[in-house]
Amino acid sequence: MKLRFWGVRGSVPTPGPKTVKYGGNTSCLEIRGDNNELLVIDAGTGLRELGNYLISNDLPDGPLDINIMLTHTHWDHIQGFPFFGPAFIPSSTITFRGPVNAIGMGLEEIVSGQMAYSYFPIKLNELRADIQFKEIREEDFKIGPFYISTCYLNHPILCLAYRITCGDKTIVTIYDNEPYRNIFADKKEDNESGLDGIDDEAIKEAEEYVKIQNNKIIDFAKGADLIVYDAQYTTEEYKTKAGWGHSTIDHALEAALEIQCSKLALFHHDPVRSDKELDTLQVQTVDKVKQIGGNNLIVFFARERLEIAI
Ligand SMILES: [Zn+2]
Ligand SMILES: [Zn+2]
Repeated sequence: MKLRFWGVRGSVPTPGPKTVKYGGNTSCLEIRGDNNELLVIDAGTGLRELGNYLISNDLPDGPLDINIMLTHTHWDHIQGFPFFGPAFIPSSTITFRGPVNAIGMGLEEIVSGQMAYSYFPIKLNELRADIQFKEIREEDFKIGPFYISTCYLNHPILCLAYRITCGDKTIVTIYDNEPYRNIFADKKEDNESGLDGIDDEAIKEAEEYVKIQNNKIIDFAKGADLIVYDAQYTTEEYKTKAGWGHSTIDHALEAALEIQCSKLALFHHDPVRSDKELDTLQVQTVDKVKQIGGNNLIVFFARERLEIAI
């Protein structure tokens, strides 16, 4: 199995001279099976270039049949779709899968909403490709040679981790995720929060629940060869970003060591992060992995066009 990154940035595209090396496009991953079968995860702005690549390289071999699995529907994970070349070709088939939305809007409604006439001149139903939408929950399914499972993550909107197995290799994506934490414990001493009546028993109960939820994600990823993990913040930055739905580099390392994967791709880079900063963080992170005894773990910051064979 192979994975290629087409967009690695979180939140918003960041083109410019400071992001040339790692890239400024938002989330988009291309996964290939052993016989070049295609899976796409997320439709951030990286999807536009992937579309052009598919038209040049795959279309000459026959009509495009593309499965796009959305982790969730925040802008940085869907915004590339209106510019996805294969959607304008009549022979293409495109199937979206993504989480059922808790706020009463369907997946199709959300994806097409960004193409309302005020925002974009072509409506979803005017695109030439055959486009289908399938809403998914925590479940197992199969696409071609890929066995896929999903698991809910901790993010401000329903968001899925994907576990993809092809042959004897497995890739797991865990991004747009913040480890669960016990907010009662944080606020116990804070009288203004209105939670000052919370007793120790309730805090202990919440602690147990947090542990179960975090372990569920680790168990979901066990046995993976490659993990693509949210590493938007440093531990210092996280102090003012707790509750925003993202992880730190240290959270990612901790999870990778528990999962015992061989490769960890740090992903969903903060928009403020320059190439220079990412290079520095790469050196610091590799040092840290050695210090904490993760000698068998290969860790790297994802960058556009990087291809990983597992
Ligand atoms: Zn995101
Ligand atoms: Zn998000």
